[in-house]
Amino acid sequence: MKREFAVIGLGRFGGSICRELSMEGMDVLAIDVDEDKVNEFKNFASYAVIADSTDEAALKELGIKNIDHVIVAIGDNIQASILTTVILTDLGIKKITVKAQNDYHEKILKKIGADQVVHPERDMGKRIAHNIISNNILDYLELSDEHSIVEVKVGERMLGKTLVDLDIRANYGCNVVAIKRGKEINVSPSADDALQKSDILIVIGADNDISRFERHLV
Ligand code: ADP
Repeated sequence: MKREFAVIGLGRFGGSICRELSMEGMDVLAIDVDEDKVNEFKNFASYAVIADSTDEAALKELGIKNIDHVIVAIGDNIQASILTTVILTDLGIKKITVKAQNDYHEKILKKIGADQVVHPERDMGKRIAHNIISNNILDYLELSDEHSIVEVKVGERMLGKTLVDLDIRANYGCNVVAIKRGKEINVSPSADDALQKSDILIVIGADNDISRFERHLV
């Protein structure tokens, strides 16, 4: 099913979202104040237009009201990002995703009605830091300020052991929610199945507990 998206701000982040959505066959309206940026996206997006998103009349004229999901990817100009978000909320857009520059920006965006606030530099930094701690940590996803999910390769210390042997819940307070083995993903892993070399565990828990788990077992 084709859905309609608009991406406002075609920098590295917005541009990448716009390219991916278009490549997935989605209808994308690409907006930027910068003519060069808009020209760059003429071939990807369904429509690429020059407009200042802080101009409510301009957004209305583009028919933004009919769009299901608007992504605000304005970089450094926090004021423009906030004002754009206020206009979009007032217009009653169903879903608004906004890129935040810092924690204060994020707080304000949530207050004024952004449905989803993303913080790509901070999140990617966290993911890479965890991967630097151990090559076995494949991915790290923040669920809330205090809880995360990690994807870890079974290391030497876990090899051949069962979930009962490791007793991750009792020892570290985290839960193994799934085990990936090749292309299979087992969402109710058996407690007495011995872990194999290429297995990948998906573990959920409080950040402190996950840190202990990473330090001791990964
Ligand atoms: P990134 O860090 O993702 O590369 P940038 O700051 O480079 O972000 O890009 C943000 C984009 O948003 C720029 O192309 C800029 O022209 C655009 N932009 C900034 N303000 C507005 C606005 N009011 N309306 C539309 N586009 C805007």
